[in-house]
Amino acid sequence: MIPAARTVGFVPGERNVFFHILTACNLSCRHCYINPEQHGRQTLSRATMERWIELFARPEQKSNMIFLGGEPTLHPDLVHGIAKAKACGFAVTVDSNGYLFHDLLDHTTPELLDYLSFSLDGPDAAVNDPIRGQGSFAVCTTNLRKAVARGFAVSVIYTVSSMNIEHLPRMVALLGDLGVRRFFIQVIGLRGKPAQDGVLAKLEDGSSKWQVSPEQWLRIVPAVARQAAEQGIHVTYPKVFLDESEPFECAGVVADNFFIFPNGRVYRCPLCEDYPIHACRIENDILLHNEGLTEDRFFALNIAEGCVMNKLLQPDTISYDTSGRPQHRISCCLLKQEIKPAI
Ligand code: SF4
Ligand code: SF4
Repeated sequence: MIPAARTVGFVPGERNVFFHILTACNLSCRHCYINPEQHGRQTLSRATMERWIELFARPEQKSNMIFLGGEPTLHPDLVHGIAKAKACGFAVTVDSNGYLFHDLLDHTTPELLDYLSFSLDGPDAAVNDPIRGQGSFAVCTTNLRKAVARGFAVSVIYTVSSMNIEHLPRMVALLGDLGVRRFFIQVIGLRGKPAQDGVLAKLEDGSSKWQVSPEQWLRIVPAVARQAAEQGIHVTYPKVFLDESEPFECAGVVADNFFIFPNGRVYRCPLCEDYPIHACRIENDILLHNEGLTEDRFFALNIAEGCVMNKLLQPDTISYDTSGRPQHRISCCLLKQEIKPAI
């Protein structure tokens, strides 16, 4: 039986807490979305990290905590954060660039860490390293193999851009060889470096066109997801384009997501992270709602193009027919499709 893709709706009451515990990183990926001007340069102290975990803990609800950076394994107290989050009832994930500083694998366990995610943007060094940094493919895949051997549940995140989409099909064989059972495909957003006009945002041909066309996306991504599922891999990828019959929903309205940065900003929508329009902030370890023109004022706007923030921030991604109707409605960037393995 060929595995089929299904849209994963937002689960009412489920909480996802994306916790950036620092913004420092050893790499300098060309598509990095971290923006220290907006997100701060602090590394949270162990005590603050623990208090903020408590602040978002709701043990009675299904809750996920995803530790992010910068590179979260650069934080000397990450293992304490993992243990604290687990004790507070969270399912815990760490998203790493694969360098696994502070010997992470030696100081935590598969029982505490539900998922360890590795970022790879190519099936080999020739594709990955020009995007993520010289030598990063070798380090990431070596540490990934170690994590699998130690019994950790690992996943791989691949950020699709015009630089690597044509190489995505070759990831299926690599994931099989590495023993990876979960694969997250994500689409590059115009945030952080790709949104800047500086030289880092330019591609080799001098253009700044990082994003892929709808045709490229629809031609390549669902087919690769199906092939991976046929090999026993659980694949998740963004919906991006809604079918005619599918309802539009904004996660900012119907879901419980929090994107926390070390300067205390708390966003409800990742597309807004380059702007000081965060809905909430943490002050003196208390979560406060911001007044004024904040992101949540936009969430309820109902427009033909679907996601209002996409329309405001990335209007180039929308095309119109001759009567002025959008050819595709853009889904919430947090809406996913998944294909579970047949076996
Ligand atoms: S590993 Fe992550 S935080 Fe570090 S530069 Fe790359 S994208 Fe940015
Ligand atoms: S991406 Fe769009 S639809 Fe999703 S939370 Fe943000 S504004 Fe809402």
